[in-house]
Amino acid sequence: MRIDTPSAETPAAAPVRPLLEIDAVTLQYKTDDYLVTAAQQVSFNVYPGDRFVLLGPSGCGKSTLLKAIGGYLPPVHGEIRLHGKAVMQPGPDRMMVFQEFDQLLPWKTVRQNVEFALTASGRLKGREAAERAAHYIGMVGLAKFIDSYPHTLSGGMKQRVSIARGMAMEPDVLLMDEPFAALDALTRRKMQDELLRLWDDTRFTVLFVTHGIDEAIRIGTRILLLSPHPGQVKAELNSIAPELLGTAHQSALETRIDQLLFAH
Ligand code: ADP
Ligand code: MG
Repeated sequence: MRIDTPSAETPAAAPVRPLLEIDAVTLQYKTDDYLVTAAQQVSFNVYPGDRFVLLGPSGCGKSTLLKAIGGYLPPVHGEIRLHGKAVMQPGPDRMMVFQEFDQLLPWKTVRQNVEFALTASGRLKGREAAERAAHYIGMVGLAKFIDSYPHTLSGGMKQRVSIARGMAMEPDVLLMDEPFAALDALTRRKMQDELLRLWDDTRFTVLFVTHGIDEAIRIGTRILLLSPHPGQVKAELNSIAPELLGTAHQSALETRIDQLLFAH
């Protein structure tokens, strides 16, 4: 954990500082033959404990933004800051969960997959790594499958292992790129509820990418709407309280988001 040293100028009741700042960030893919601007002048702040959602149609730069926040793609303009410090490279303080089910090492068991992330990154070793891994595998409901190999698990279970692996690292922010998009609708719904339950338990900070309006409303506390070509911020909204899901408040917010995304 990072502790900020207060300076003489810090006021007594300083507002909470953003955990993650995306400051006028432009991201491009460039080769000799082409130039694609995947995100243009995108700004947003993520605060500790936020469930921050990036929502927009395919091609609006959501994955590219996550890649940049992960430290895999430097901005051509603007800056990404974590705890006020520019992000220059990948690090265990930002863990990523992807959509694909093949994120696990097939020759390692569930336990070994989670442990390996901890030991390879130097986070923990030996007994401590084993205990931490078992704890998070239990949290995602897979205690019984801790010694199973990935190929014996369903898609939803593999995603749970990937989530456990990400959470076990106790990153400052968990980056999730459409993690439930490849699941069937019922499993997806179950996984969304599970993620919210995990969040209730540990209040981790999550940056979640989706192209589904209903998923954004269900998962997010804050929702950033992006439009494509190039990816630009259309609006930033508060979501609704979980107890208002399924009520007229949800339909009203869906309609509003629809209008914002598709208005010209
Ligand atoms: P999203 O995740 O919102 O669907 P992406 O971030 O994947 O969007 O893509 C944003 C834009 O960048 C798209 O136009 C896409 O074609 C382009 N793009 C993504 N990855 C690459 C790449 N590796 N090389 C060139 N262009 C890319
Ligand atoms: Mg994507």
